[in-house]
Amino acid sequence: MNMLTDKKALITGVASGRSIAWGLAQAMAKQGAEICLSYQNDKLKERVNKLSGECNCSLTLPCDVSQDRQITQLFERLRQHWSSVDIVVHSLAYAPREALQGNLHGNTDREAFRQAHEISAYSLIALAHHAQAMMPENGSLLTLSYLGAERVVPGYNVMGLAKASLEAAVRYLASDLGAAGIRCNAISAGPIKTLAAAGISNFRRMLEHARQRSPLKRTVSIEEVGQVGAFLCSDLASGITGETIYVDAGYHIMDQGIEAVAD
Ligand code: NAD
Repeated sequence: MNMLTDKKALITGVASGRSIAWGLAQAMAKQGAEICLSYQNDKLKERVNKLSGECNCSLTLPCDVSQDRQITQLFERLRQHWSSVDIVVHSLAYAPREALQGNLHGNTDREAFRQAHEISAYSLIALAHHAQAMMPENGSLLTLSYLGAERVVPGYNVMGLAKASLEAAVRYLASDLGAAGIRCNAISAGPIKTLAAAGISNFRRMLEHARQRSPLKRTVSIEEVGQVGAFLCSDLASGITGETIYVDAGYHIMDQGIEAVAD
């Protein structure tokens, strides 16, 4: 018996075959879920439609989360296709490229702050609000975070602030929706080479550091993140909510300041 048999999952954030959302879509489909993929804009439509053939996806829909109208329309269209949705995955983020260089105070103007927080954190709240109206008991919301939410990662800057807000939103949503039997969790993934990651000026060093300093001495794959996401959204994880689970080869447990020395 697969973990997600008879579950319907709306997955946002597929931009390419390297996207974490794609790892999640494949893992959830493998566990028996029926998938709907949403994409940001027309530029991504064809690519997402092509990928949809490989993940038990019956529907693809547009949604730019910076537009309230598009979020409303996403759920209106989803409702025409499905009477309920069991899983909603929020796997998207944005900050202007200039804000992901240098330091926080020199590279964050008011507009960069607004965009980063609106697109990367507020959108989870908006999606959750629409989703809960269609979710049965045992529904599950999942988002993607990064260690920069709680530690200073050079170059991550305003995105670290947005991820901190996102992780707090996960806890508040878990509390809001728990009585309805709906859970909300985050995966804090280690660095993975994706389109979004390419915008972070320090990203190559983040990858190399993760390889050298994580207990497993490697980075993680979108397949590994996908498998944990499938578990978290399944009934096997029915007792977990409001949590941020690390899928980072153990990187976050290490004290990164102390060099290992042989006695
Ligand atoms: P990606 O580029 O493949 O995906 C980012 C997605 O965000 C894209 O599909 C893009 O279309 C979408 N997006 C951006 N603005 C949007 C908007 N206004 N409306 C709708 N969609 C929008 O990169 P990814 O690394 O797979 O990113 C997915 C999530 O994982 C992000 O939240 C990211 O912060 C998080 N994350 C990534 C890493 C990493 O190292 N790649 C690590 C930890 C967490």
